[in-house]
Amino acid sequence: MASTIKRQLVVYDFDWSMADQDTDRWIFEVNAPDLRRKMKNLASEVQWTDLVAQTLREAHSRGVTREQIEHALKIMPFHPAMVRAITKLKITANPETTLFCLSNANVVFISTILESKGLTALFEEIVTNPAEWDSSGLLNLRRKIDPSGPQHSCKIGCSPNMCKGDELDAFLERHQPDFDRVIYVGDGSNDYCPVVRLRSQDMVLCRRYRGLENRIAKDGEKDGLKCQVKYWAGAWEVEEIFSQI
Ligand SMILES: [Mg+2]
Ligand SMILES: [Zn+2]
Repeated sequence: MASTIKRQLVVYDFDWSMADQDTDRWIFEVNAPDLRRKMKNLASEVQWTDLVAQTLREAHSRGVTREQIEHALKIMPFHPAMVRAITKLKITANPETTLFCLSNANVVFISTILESKGLTALFEEIVTNPAEWDSSGLLNLRRKIDPSGPQHSCKIGCSPNMCKGDELDAFLERHQPDFDRVIYVGDGSNDYCPVVRLRSQDMVLCRRYRGLENRIAKDGEKDGLKCQVKYWAGAWEVEEIFSQI
């Protein structure tokens, strides 16, 4: 079986999957916990990417600096076993692994953390929400899908900012021929859409006790989920699974 897999793709969600925390919430827990509370209160009313963008502006207006946010990102929990797991995947020649990060966070948060772990060069692509620092130290964050243009048509439950299933399909289209196996590492309900599109030879490494596990249990059978499902709780188990398959 293993010998037939020459080219594999490993797709990583970022928050609570590759990283052991959630960037959008963590930076405010570290620098402005009252804004973290305000976000929680507004989460049901405001689209999440817009809410993070708005909270970044509010934090900036009260003097939270770029350096403080970057520092918070660099000290955010990120398990050493996950760094090892990713590094080992890339140095193993057979199968040859392509790494793809697919996230609802943003490019600045992810790049800052990957850089601090020495992992940047290992990823083929990062697809997430765009963001950039301006000269005053404000991080300008936008939805991947501009709210004033055409919207995605996903009915599985993706947030308006991005359909992760569509983004995975687009990546696969850009990187033909088809991979012999796709492994998706995810935790959240927003990972369900791409996971439902995986084939029977593919696999999801689903983190326990979070939205994706619940959604698979509730709708997986009804939606014709085809891929293999392996569960994990700690990053050391992801490292272990990669070493066994
Ligand atoms: Mg996640
Ligand atoms: Zn979707």
